Amino acid sequence: MEPFVYQALSQRIVFGVGTLSGVGDEVARLGKSRALVLSTAQQADAANALAATLGSKAAGVFAGAAMHTPVAVTEKALGVAMELGADVVISLGGGSTTGLGKAIALRTGLPQIAIPTSYAGSEATPILGETRDGRKITQRAPAILPDVVIYDVDLTLTLPPGLTVTSGLNAIAHAIEALYAENRNPLISQLAISGIEALVRALPAIVSDPADATARSDALYGAWACGTCLGSVGMALHHKVCHVLGGSFDLPHAETHSVMLPHTVAYNEGSARAQLQPVANLLGAQSAATGLWDLARALGAPIALKDIGMPEAGLDKAAAEVTANPYWNPRPIMPAPIRAMLADAFNGTRPLLEN
Ligand code: NAD
Repeated sequence: MEPFVYQALSQRIVFGVGTLSGVGDEVARLGKSRALVLSTAQQADAANALAATLGSKAAGVFAGAAMHTPVAVTEKALGVAMELGADVVISLGGGSTTGLGKAIALRTGLPQIAIPTSYAGSEATPILGETRDGRKITQRAPAILPDVVIYDVDLTLTLPPGLTVTSGLNAIAHAIEALYAENRNPLISQLAISGIEALVRALPAIVSDPADATARSDALYGAWACGTCLGSVGMALHHKVCHVLGGSFDLPHAETHSVMLPHTVAYNEGSARAQLQPVANLLGAQSAATGLWDLARALGAPIALKDIGMPEAGLDKAAAEVTANPYWNPRPIMPAPIRAMLADAFNGTRPLLEN
C-alpha cells in the first residue's frame, strides 16, 4: 500500500425515495426556521411547491440561479436573503443552483441544505466556481460544503434523457480524475470505481426508459459517490480544460465534460495506466479513453466541441489558458499535445492513445 493522507468531509447525507418530505425536519434539526429556497427559473414550480410544503419554515423563493454562478446573480440573491431574514438556504436543482447556495453560504455563514436533481455532484464538494467578467475563479473552503444533502430519487425522474447522459458523464469525470489524483487514497479510489460502475450500468437503462426507478436510484448513488471523490481529492487536466471552456467560452457544463472526457483520459492514460485499467475493464474496452468515447456515442451524448458552441478560432486561446497555469497532472502539460487534444475534441474524432 502506498502512503496516503485522507481528510474526511463532514456532511449529513439522506438518500432514498420520497425523502423530500423530510426537508422540514432537516431545517428544524439545524435549529433554523426561515428557509430561502433557491432554484433556476426552469425549476421555479418545484421550488414554490417545496416552499408551500415548508409552510412557516419558508421565508421565500429565489428562482434566478444560473450556470457557472455569475457573481451578479449571487449579489441579487444575497439582497433577497437579507430582506427576508433567511437563516438557512435550500438549493433545489442541479449544480447551478447548488453553486448559488454555496456562494451565499460563503458570504453569510448561513447553513445550507442541498437537494440535487442532476448528477453534477457539486453538493458533495467544498468547491465553488464563480464567474466574473468572463473568467471562472474556483476556490475550495470548508464553509462552501453544504451541511445536509437530501437525495430523492423521485426528483431525478424529470431530468431529461439528454441531460441525464451528459450529467452522468460529468459525474464519471470526477471519479476518473480521482483515480489518478496526486493525493489519491484507497478509500476514494474504491468509491470512484463503485460510482463509475453504477453510472455505466444505469445510464443505458435510463436512456431506454427514463422512468426506470432502479436505474435512477443507481445513477443518483453514482452521482453521490463521484461527487464525494471530487470533494475529497485534487483534480487534474480534465477539470482544468472544462473550467477554461466553461468560463472563457460559456460552453454548457455537462456537455463540455462529456465531449472532453475521452480526450483528457487519452492524454493521461499512458501516465496513469494502472489507475485507469479498472475503468477499461468495466467498460469492456481496450483502453479507458476509447471505452468512454464509445459509451458517450452509444448514449447519444455530444462528442464534438464544434457541436456545443465552441468557436474554432478560440482553440489557440483555450490551449494557452490550459497550459498557462496548469493543475497538477499525471502527464506534464505540454502546449503542442494540448492543442492537438483540443483539435480532436473540436472535431469529435475517436481518441488515439498518445503515450
Ligand atoms: P444546471 O444546474 O445548470 O441544470 C441544467 C438545467 O436542467 C437547468 O435548467 C435546471 O433547472 C434543469 N434541471 C436540473 N435538474 C432537473 C430535473 N431533475 N428535472 C428537470 N430539469 C432539471 O446543470 P448541472 O450540469 O447540474 O450543473 C452545472 C453547474 O454546476 C456548473 O455551473 C458547474 O460549474 C457546477 N458544478 C460545480 C461543481 C463543484 O463541485 N463546485 C461540481 C459540478 C458542477
